Amino acid sequence: MRAHTALHLLSVVLPYPVTGGSVGDAEGRLDFDSGDAAVEKIVVERRLNELIAVDAAVSQRWITDQELEANPALVKTMAVKPPMGTGRVRLVAIEGLDLQPCGGTHVARTGEIGRASVTQIEKKGKLNRRVRIALAGA
Ligand SMILES: [Zn+2]
Repeated sequence: MRAHTALHLLSVVLPYPVTGGSVGDAEGRLDFDSGDAAVEKIVVERRLNELIAVDAAVSQRWITDQELEANPALVKTMAVKPPMGTGRVRLVAIEGLDLQPCGGTHVARTGEIGRASVTQIEKKGKLNRRVRIALAGA
């Protein structure tokens, strides 16, 4: 839950289309189509921890498939489509920071994530960056 919620915040720090990702107990990664943008480990890590420290509330609500289709900008992940087809989609909001469809499990407040480190930023092709994070206390 902590690592998964941290990846939501990582997608706020790096506002680029997400092309892939995975999550474990206390670590995770996202692949971004960041184009020519500079993605620097120290900068990403500092910003990520700033967002964790805001201790923003995480909440969820349901919208219909039609509402989601009317708001395609909500979908950041190109590779992983939100679960649709049941008529409704769960939207997860991190107060003031992030709003996206998600079926995962989350902590109640970002402060519960604790300290996060950016362990690696890898080039995956010309436009893609793979960003790995790890949480303290694992
Ligand atoms: Zn989520």
